[in-house]
Amino acid sequence: MTGSRRERDLELYFHIPFCRQKCNYCDFLSAPAGEQVQNAYMEALLRETEAGSGMARDRVVRSVFIGGGTPSVVDTVWLCRVLDLVRRRFDLAADAEITVEINPGTVTERDLKDYREAGINRLSIGCQSADDRELAFLGRIHDYSRFEDTCRMARDAGFDNINVDLISALPGQTLEEWEKNLRTVLSLSPAPEHLSVYSLILEEGTVFWERYEKGMLEPVDEDLERDMYWRTARILREAGYEHYEISNYARPGYRCRHNCGYWQRTDYLGFGIGAASLLDNVRFRNGESLQGYLSDPLGCRQDREELTAQEQMAETMFLGLRMADGVSLSVFQDTYGADAEEIYRDAIEGSCREGLLAVQDGRIFLTKRGVDLANYVMAKFV
Ligand code: SF4
Repeated sequence: MTGSRRERDLELYFHIPFCRQKCNYCDFLSAPAGEQVQNAYMEALLRETEAGSGMARDRVVRSVFIGGGTPSVVDTVWLCRVLDLVRRRFDLAADAEITVEINPGTVTERDLKDYREAGINRLSIGCQSADDRELAFLGRIHDYSRFEDTCRMARDAGFDNINVDLISALPGQTLEEWEKNLRTVLSLSPAPEHLSVYSLILEEGTVFWERYEKGMLEPVDEDLERDMYWRTARILREAGYEHYEISNYARPGYRCRHNCGYWQRTDYLGFGIGAASLLDNVRFRNGESLQGYLSDPLGCRQDREELTAQEQMAETMFLGLRMADGVSLSVFQDTYGADAEEIYRDAIEGSCREGLLAVQDGRIFLTKRGVDLANYVMAKFV
């Protein structure tokens, strides 16, 4: 039994939930921890991965993403061991994209060289801002020069595929200040191959949220946030980047294959606390308790949900619409034996009338106005 190439493709995600310190805006599953806890977690992660590899029979792993948290806070040896295990237990494609998220101030030149030797071929660096005042406000552990040093070391180690994460729409930030940030990062030589740019969202449970509730922090006005978004899109387009997903930009040939897989519903297996999986149209995720995971890494899977055909189609629409290429009507037809325009007639026709969606050359995608109201449009397909 083999199936088509797409059906056999698999992505792997490893969650490393440790950080040096918690950033003021962050609600990710991450926290500082000592070396002993980190080591115990990584042992558990290897155990879970080894046991979980049985689910990947007949599958080819096209991408591996080690995310967090800050994976680079754990000893490099652990990341090498994870990849070594992947090679032994999975069918890892020779040209697989292998990404690790790092933060400035958590890697040495030696670490980066070891990453390269372990087969890691893409780095995602959390920069967030080029302004030291903003970095301190965000609660980041680094200043901009640390980020520049990290980029230089990464290039020296041989990394030629680098993503940089940035955050726009910080409280009090002006359009000009944001543009300066962006242009500063673009002036790196060489410039990053990929940029992920997200507007700040105030999330409950964060330091920023507390300040907001106390009236000490004022979110950026919505119109200004949109101005920053479209200014970003214009500057990056002029600099030769493709705006291929709502918040992601890449030089031609450098789209993040792993994330494209998510948006196109490629199957993926996630390991570590809180990690989600999609396999043969079943979604499941691991529990978030660190203690629970350390005591039983094989027993933490929960929330198993078998997707109905209707749910699969809805996912194809709202995930696919995140991408500038949108959803291919012929791929939809081949996958589900159904006509998307017929199934979602009301949603599509209504949104086209409102100028939020367009259908062209066999694809359906968000218009510029649709991008501004993306959540509203996508909700119509759920
Ligand atoms: S480094 Fe990233 S994951 Fe860690 S606390 Fe900061 S934003 Fe969250």
